[in-house]
Amino acid sequence: MSIEVSGVSKRYGDFVALADIDLTIPTGGLTALLGPSGGGKTTLLRIIAGLEDADGGSVVIEGVEATDLPVQKRNVGFVFQHYAPFKHLSVARNVAFGLEVRGRSRAETQARVAELLDLVHLSQFAHRLPSQLSGGQRQRMALARALAIQPTVLLLDEPFGALDAKVRKELRDWLRRLHDEVNVTTVFVTHDQEEALEVADEIVVINEGRIEQIGSPEELYDKPANDFVMGFLGPVTRLGGSLIRPHDIDVARAPGTPGTTAGVVTRVLRVGFEVRLTVRTDQDEAVLITLTRTHARGIAVGDDVWIAPTEGAPSSP
Ligand code: ADP
Ligand code: MG
Repeated sequence: MSIEVSGVSKRYGDFVALADIDLTIPTGGLTALLGPSGGGKTTLLRIIAGLEDADGGSVVIEGVEATDLPVQKRNVGFVFQHYAPFKHLSVARNVAFGLEVRGRSRAETQARVAELLDLVHLSQFAHRLPSQLSGGQRQRMALARALAIQPTVLLLDEPFGALDAKVRKELRDWLRRLHDEVNVTTVFVTHDQEEALEVADEIVVINEGRIEQIGSPEELYDKPANDFVMGFLGPVTRLGGSLIRPHDIDVARAPGTPGTTAGVVTRVLRVGFEVRLTVRTDQDEAVLITLTRTHARGIAVGDDVWIAPTEGAPSSP
């Protein structure tokens, strides 16, 4: 059940931001909306939140018809990339805000805020001002604030997008653990495929206002529905006209196995633990191949090689 989006579309003038979206987001899961910038992810999230009206279609949240419900009645919590806290209020007061607005008692509010600050590991900063927190801590405060009202669904729009790579990675792990603890149905927008692959139970790939594929990280990676999904989830190259991942190509130093393509190594580039080869094939394709250092040992520019897709490797079409 949980969130059912049916036939949702949205135009801005002539521009189609969302085209007839059907989507079921499972209860209690962590679902990523993944896709390139401008694909319609934020628009879809805002329509689920009630911050934006769709031109057509419906949104049902946990069995409740929400299409015409205002945002305050949907019981959703959200966090955006550039979340603006109340600058003059302490961290604790920021987290308490939603509860105070809803007229909860002082005792209940204090207890709940203490519990939430503990959950996001900010207890010792309760009395600081938001400006005295790091970027990562501020986003954790935003999560606590969103969770305070005990939302039915938690909507996160690139919540770590403005942070540097190391902090992003930490918060990603942290979000996964937090979700496993609170189990609230969470929809998480990102344009970063690694973030989605690492964190999500289910990924919805959105591009140009349409859903390209829905599946678990493994399903998307191993059985991409089309070239777009395959290319968006990781590096690809072309061998014999088909898309394939550069690490899914076997390299032999001698002919013999049927089905291999002959070629000449034109470039060898070592990047950390991997070696990237370019092989110019007899069919005049420049194929990129990634090998471990061990597998690449002894291969040099000008060598003749015979290459083939690794058995069972995903390829498209
Ligand atoms: P994403 O979050 O995937 O980057 P968005 O949902 O923000 O994409 O936007 C989808 C498309 O809709 C973009 O091309 C964007 O320019 C357009 N768009 C979004 N909001 C508006 C608006 N208020 N007016 C006009 N165009 C908009
Ligand atoms: Mg967006």
